[in-house]
Amino acid sequence: MAPIQIKIKDKKYLFIKWQDSSESSVRLTSLRRICPCAMCSEERNKQGKDYIPIYNDDQVTIQNLKLVGYYGINVQWKDGHKLGIYEYGFLKRIAEPQ
Ligand SMILES: [Zn+2]
Repeated sequence: MAPIQIKIKDKKYLFIKWQDSSESSVRLTSLRRICPCAMCSEERNKQGKDYIPIYNDDQVTIQNLKLVGYYGINVQWKDGHKLGIYEYGFLKRIAEPQ
């Protein structure tokens, strides 16, 4: 399913309204934490289960969002990291229902 609206809410959440009118929001810290790019995936593989991520503001502030085809969005973070492409199905799965 594709979104009909995507916005940043309260500087803390990515808010998505879907075609079926359901709404999801994903905490930006969670979004950054699960960045699906190869670099972050590899980084996560190295972390143990006791790992606690610590982020500075720039790492969890979205500077730009770009649609990628019909299947996802590319998130560009303020710290310059912009490799992550989040597919819609993935976002819907990880989002907290509203
Ligand atoms: Zn990444």
